[in-house]
Amino acid sequence: MKELYFASQNQNKLREIQAMMPDHLELKGLQALNYFEPLQEDHHTLQENASQKAITIYEKFNVSVFADDTGLEVAALNGEPGVKSARYAGENRSNEANIDLLLKNLEGSTDRSARFRTVIALILKGKKHQFEGIVEGDIISEKRGSDGFGYDPIFIPKGYNQTFAEMSLEQKNKISHRKRALQTMIDFLKTNNL
Ligand code: IMP
Repeated sequence: MKELYFASQNQNKLREIQAMMPDHLELKGLQALNYFEPLQEDHHTLQENASQKAITIYEKFNVSVFADDTGLEVAALNGEPGVKSARYAGENRSNEANIDLLLKNLEGSTDRSARFRTVIALILKGKKHQFEGIVEGDIISEKRGSDGFGYDPIFIPKGYNQTFAEMSLEQKNKISHRKRALQTMIDFLKTNNL
């Protein structure tokens, strides 16, 4: 079985991604490396942040590793909150406050289109690769649904009439930006016999 590490301290994400990986690939978390420090992500793009996290682990442990970074990009706000999605309304990373600020900034706007974008940086045998997953949709003006996290209660993916927070996790994970980015990476690994 081939080993691949996921550069994140988020155990929920690790479990979610483990469930999406093919059986012959063993996805390991940073705990397996006895690494418990938070990973820095202080750049201005999703690409740079994902790379920074993967490179940190590669340089310390010389393993094959990937990291992800996600943002909600709202057209009428010139792509904001984007890379700042987690901290849009401040350093305490409150989902409530982030949603409230986004809705306030979108007040009166007729263009409600937005997309979630996930970037994955993979370092495989010392070489860097990058993958992307996008889900297009619209921002509604009031929260709906209680599942999920982040901006899920105000985002309806195109072609659906439920918000991500009204969908089951299973349903969301079938079409999500993270799933799409991950699937692109898995397909790449397959074509390279990994
Ligand atoms: P991360 O890079 O996956 O940690 O995502 C950064 C931020 O984007 C999160 O703190 C959320 O605010 C937002 N976000 C990422 N993925 C999702 C999602 O699937 N639904 C809703 N919000 C998300």
